[in-house]
Amino acid sequence: MAKILIIEDEAKLADTLAYNIREEGHEALVVLDGLAGLEKARSESPNLIILDLMLPKMDGLEVCRLVRRDSDVPIIMLTAKSRELDKVVGLEIGADDYVTKPFSMVEMLARIKATLRRSRTQVRQTEVIRAGDLEMDVARHLVSINGSIVDLRPKEFELLRVLLVNKARVLNRTTLLQLVWGEDEYIDAGTVDVHIRRLREKIEADPGNPSRVLTVRGLGYKYAE
Ligand code: CA
Repeated sequence: MAKILIIEDEAKLADTLAYNIREEGHEALVVLDGLAGLEKARSESPNLIILDLMLPKMDGLEVCRLVRRDSDVPIIMLTAKSRELDKVVGLEIGADDYVTKPFSMVEMLARIKATLRRSRTQVRQTEVIRAGDLEMDVARHLVSINGSIVDLRPKEFELLRVLLVNKARVLNRTTLLQLVWGEDEYIDAGTVDVHIRRLREKIEADPGNPSRVLTVRGLGYKYAE
C-alpha cells in the first residue's frame, strides 16, 4: 500500500482519482491548491504525488521545484495542455511522468503502478558511494566533490548512481535507458547522451576531456576506475 497525494483544484476530478486509488488498495490524500499541497508533501511524506500544473496559490511547476529540493518522491504531473514544450518543462523540473487531461482512469492507474514500481527498485536505505573525491549520499540525494555540493537534477543523479554502482563496467545506452528511465515511451537513446553531457558539465573539471564519466567508443559509457 502506498500513500498518494493528489494536488488538484478540480474537486470532482480529484475525488474520482482518490476513489479509484483507494479501490486499488492505496491511501489517497486530496489537496485543492498548490501551497497546501507543498505543505502536505512535506508533512505527510507521500510515496507518490499527482500534481496538477495549473493550481491556485502556487502553480504545479513551483510546487514540483520546491518538493524536489528535499525529496525524490515520484511526481506525476497533470496538465490540460498537450504541447511538447510543456512536456519538456515538466520533466526538466524533476517530474517523473506526465499525463495530459483528459485521461482515462485505466491509463492513470497504470502510470501510478509503473511509477511506484520504478521508485521501489531505487535504493532507499542510507548508502554513501565514494569514488575518489566524489561522494554520493543516496538517501539524502546529495552529491559532493571535495566537499562542495553539486546540484544535480533527479535523472542526472540516478544516471550517476547507476554508473557509480557499476564502476569500471561499460554500460550501453539501452541498459542505461532501462535502469534510469524505465519504460517511458517518449525517451530514446539520444536522451542518455544529453544527460551524460549535462552530468559532465557538472562533475568534470574539463567536460570536453572527462576523467570520471568516460565514453567507450561503440559500446557506451563507464565510470572511471
Ligand atoms: Ca487545475
